[in-house]
This record gives sequence, structure tokens and C-alpha cells, in this order.
Amino acid sequence: MRVVIATSNAHKVREIESALDFPGWEFKTLREAGLSSDPVEDSDTFLGNARIKAAAAREAARAAGIECAVLADDSGLEVDALGGAPGVFSSRYAGADGDDAANNAKLLRELEGVDDALRTARFVCTLVFLDEAGAETVARGTIEGRIAHAEAGEGGFGYDPLFVPDCFGGALTLAQVSQQEKNSVSHRGNALRQLKALLS
Ligand code: IMP
Repeated sequence: MRVVIATSNAHKVREIESALDFPGWEFKTLREAGLSSDPVEDSDTFLGNARIKAAAAREAARAAGIECAVLADDSGLEVDALGGAPGVFSSRYAGADGDDAANNAKLLRELEGVDDALRTARFVCTLVFLDEAGAETVARGTIEGRIAHAEAGEGGFGYDPLFVPDCFGGALTLAQVSQQEKNSVSHRGNALRQLKALLS
């Protein structure tokens, strides 16, 4: 089965490929499949936005005469002391889309003076898989942790240098562990394991 992944984020593609290692499945990004799709993600939920991306990718494939399944994900960070922000606005929290440095700086500013005990947060990932006939399977994964007072670590992407998961002794950020360790506990890893079980 050919599966088009509705993302251009290389981190996500590699993680999806290794997590959903079904025999005979071939993954392609939109670009690798010769498709382009950039819908407006205007839902106020991760599930809504993942559905928008999945539907747009399926439509682009159908318009090009390509028979395939599609997989879309939407993810973000929910900080309890900020009422769940940045949430669906995670990638453009500070304004520009995907400016990780500015997003992390804004998050630290917003949490200035907030005690450790109140810096609880979680990453959330929602996956929407549409098979070749358009039947939908949804999976969701989370990882609980806290927002640090300063960035630490060089790995990962996005808010990883500020996110201290409760696992790993509550002492390391997700940017300080290996990609393999991150995948074994992450929101996306957990959602992918759930999706694999649902599709098996
Ligand atoms: P999207 O799912 O590509 O829309 O990602 C939303 C945003 O959430 C990203 O731009 C990051 O800022 C943040 N995010 C999602 N997953 C992660 C992660 O695993 N680590 C760090 N930041 C993440």
C-alpha cells in the first residue's frame, strides 16, 4: 500500500516510517509523490487540523489520479499555567510560522515568575489515517512534563529544549535525549503505536 504523509517535516517522516513498518507499505511525502497541498489549518482542535490536512492531501492525490492512503498529524504543546496555550498555535506562537527560537523565548517570557510546581505541560499528537477508500482511523498520544526555566540540549526541534518530560528522572529536556529515547516516550511515538495497533 502506498501512503502519502501530509507533512514536509523530515523529523516526522522518519519517525512515522520506522513506527509503521508494515510489510509492503511504502511511504512518500507529498513532495515525493509530486503533490502539493497547503490547506488553511483553522480548526481550534488538533483533530480538526489533522482532518483538514488529511482531506486536502487525499483530494490532491485524487486530482492527480493517484490511488493511495493518506496520513496526517497535528501536534502541539499545552501549558496548564497558560490555559492550554500555545495549543493549536504552537508553530506560530510568537508570530512567524516555525520560528522555534522566538516561540521558546515567548514561552519563557509568559512563564516568568511561575513556580516549578505550576509549570506542568504536555505535548499532544493527533493522527488521522484515511485508507484508499477514505475510511478514517484516528489515534492520539501525549507526553506529560514541565517547562524548564532555560533552554538545554541541542537535539530534537520546536519546544524540545524547554520541555522536561516526567520520565528520564524529570531532569533532562527532550533535546538532551537521543532521537530513539524521545520516540520511545513521545506524544507522536505514543500516537503511532496506537495507530499501528488499530490498523493491525
Ligand atoms: P505541527 O504538528 O507540524 O503543526 O507542529 C506544531 C508545533 O508544535 C511545532 O512547530 C512545534 O513548535 C510543536 N511541536 C510538535 N511536536 C513537537 C515535538 O516533538 N517537539 C517539540 N515541539 C513540537
